[in-house]
Amino acid sequence: MDKKTKLLELKKRMQEDKTLPLREGATQLVFGEGNPDTKVYFLGEAPGYFEDKHGRPFVGLAGQLLDKLIESIGMQRKDVYISNVVRFRPPANRDPEPEELAAFAPYVDEEIDIIDPKVIVTLGRFSMNKFLPDSRISGVHGKKFVVSFLGKKQIVLPMYHPAAALRNGAIMNVLKSDFLLVKAALSSVEEPIIKTKTKDDTSQLSLI
Ligand code: URA
Repeated sequence: MDKKTKLLELKKRMQEDKTLPLREGATQLVFGEGNPDTKVYFLGEAPGYFEDKHGRPFVGLAGQLLDKLIESIGMQRKDVYISNVVRFRPPANRDPEPEELAAFAPYVDEEIDIIDPKVIVTLGRFSMNKFLPDSRISGVHGKKFVVSFLGKKQIVLPMYHPAAALRNGAIMNVLKSDFLLVKAALSSVEEPIIKTKTKDDTSQLSLI
């Protein structure tokens, strides 16, 4: 099964899972979207009004800012994958409760396992706490962490949430500059492959 088919199957399972919280007050499930073969996976908090209405993540004002930030590092929204730790809109956009985060977590893990990104960018404290449970965003934003996740080493870049940047100009500047780290982290995992000749003249590939 290819990644796209696996993701569709995962979405269907979530749509049918009647034990998931927050379903009652929401219009629809907001699943992740983007390029399943991406190297960069963005993980936000929960759908807001526009996401709930359209069934797509990050399509409101915070989403428009996220699109611009992605473009600022030479990528486009369609190149990356964008998702949330919670997939139904909480009433009046309140913070998700710990048990709600826990209920969605196995599905988020499965999505990450399918996509297998090189870099996970967390947006806001709830997705940051998934990987760095005891951290405060003010202390860790814009730094690169290698964490053990799903049995392997995973690069995690915690960032402020775009909605926080829309409310506070100082955070906007920090977020813009933190985003440059995405580019740097990606180039650190993309070593060039150099073709070399061996003694017996057969080619081999080596990493530098
Ligand atoms: N904020 C989020 O965290 N996620 C969305 O999809 C939209 C706004």
